[in-house]
Amino acid sequence: WNVRKLCFEFDSEPYYQAIDDKVKKFCASTSVETFSPVSHTIYDPADIIRKNGGKPPLTYQSFVKLAGEPSWASSSVSTGVTWLPTVGNIGRCSVIDVPSIEELGYEELPEDETTPFKGGETEALKRLRTSLSDQEWVSKFEKPKGDPSAFLSPATTVLSPYLKFGCLSSRYFYKCIQGIQRNVKRHTSPPVSLLGQLLWRDFFYTVAFGTPNFDRMKENRICKQIPWRNDDELLAAWREARTGYPWIDAIMVQLRKWGWMHHLARHCVACFLTRGDLFVHWEKGRDVFERLLIDSDWSINNANWLWLSCSSFFYQYNRIYSPISFGKKYDPNGNYIRHFLPVLKGIPKEYIYEPWRAPMSVQVKAKCIIGKDYPKPVIEHDVASKECKQMLHQAYELNRRSNGIVSVEELESLRRRMEDEEDADQQQCLKGKRLK
Ligand code: FAD
Repeated sequence: WNVRKLCFEFDSEPYYQAIDDKVKKFCASTSVETFSPVSHTIYDPADIIRKNGGKPPLTYQSFVKLAGEPSWASSSVSTGVTWLPTVGNIGRCSVIDVPSIEELGYEELPEDETTPFKGGETEALKRLRTSLSDQEWVSKFEKPKGDPSAFLSPATTVLSPYLKFGCLSSRYFYKCIQGIQRNVKRHTSPPVSLLGQLLWRDFFYTVAFGTPNFDRMKENRICKQIPWRNDDELLAAWREARTGYPWIDAIMVQLRKWGWMHHLARHCVACFLTRGDLFVHWEKGRDVFERLLIDSDWSINNANWLWLSCSSFFYQYNRIYSPISFGKKYDPNGNYIRHFLPVLKGIPKEYIYEPWRAPMSVQVKAKCIIGKDYPKPVIEHDVASKECKQMLHQAYELNRRSNGIVSVEELESLRRRMEDEEDADQQQCLKGKRLK
């Protein structure tokens, strides 16, 4: 929230600045001292931007080079837990317990399963201790190698919700990892190491802080202008876990129920919604994540959606996650799918990632008829991903020709051309079917 606020200030949005100034003025007039510490991140984003000549570094490597060792890391900063002072005289106010859901006016959730991750600082520190107790695991941590389908015992720390809410200090986390790395002979390094993950967080905070309109495509100078499809039906199918691709739908159910999924699982569903299959605007997916993630974080969420949609940071749009074979690599039996989509529980292993291919007798035996109990695929992956690549190719060409400054008219005209091509393809397809 702090960075979001600062971002507005940076953007010379007068509203938040005015509030800050008012608060500061009021405090000064009543002899109350104000200070604005930066401690939510490892580095001060403004410092990094200053070091980079006033612009945020746009690659992780350049960020790491500029950032160096944090100023506080070599000093003997206490990493022990300090306690809040006891509540003193609070006049006529009273301290109450945290109200229950019902007391806040909501009904108990009818969900059959909710997030297994409890909130709070005690829980955060317990989780941190448990994660870091295995020094070998920490020193060998290598991000892309984790198993996204491991849900009973996740492959990463699941400390993101605690960092987001300030239950865990990123600096304390950093110090603990650093302590382990000094103790072992060999360890992995950024960007793949556990410490490297925290640097990703700071990198994205820095870019978000220094980039006006970071959370949208328009008027965002680091974002490619792409004529995404405006298709609410496809968006709803994705959001409500009705795409017909069990791997994608199971991840979306985990998001809805748990509010947390493994990083690569997030990759898969974000790629599927945007540049991989559905060609829906990344801002729409970002909104869904923002609402449902328990670690939802303005800077990190926007940055990763920009990345996954090939709008910024990463541009290899030909590399697409298959909604069928990617999950299968990690979980051939489909245990993850069976857990989050119990309707598919009886589907044999060979069809669990593509249930529409199962013969009717198999579907009947599994008590799951495709098209009735579980949806048919909303698109054909092979066809859709090919089209997406072509559309991105055209959009990238337009961005290149216009030197990144694409006008509304140019984007509209490309959108119309793409729609016309799509219509022509469909007509061709229908004609082909009729001929057969
Ligand atoms: P670990 O692997 O244990 O890493 C430790 C910490 O490093 C994390 O808690 C997190 O603070 C940081 N970190 C790890 N990966 C990243 C990353 N790619 N970018 C920035 N910081 C990272 N993370 C959020 O915290 N909030 C979000 O709203 C969010 N939205 C995302 C949206 C998309 C589309 C994608 C692909 C990723 C998103 N992430 C987000 C990043 C990442 O998936 C999560 O931080 C990570 O999965 C959290 O699990 P963990 O704590 O076990 O991570």
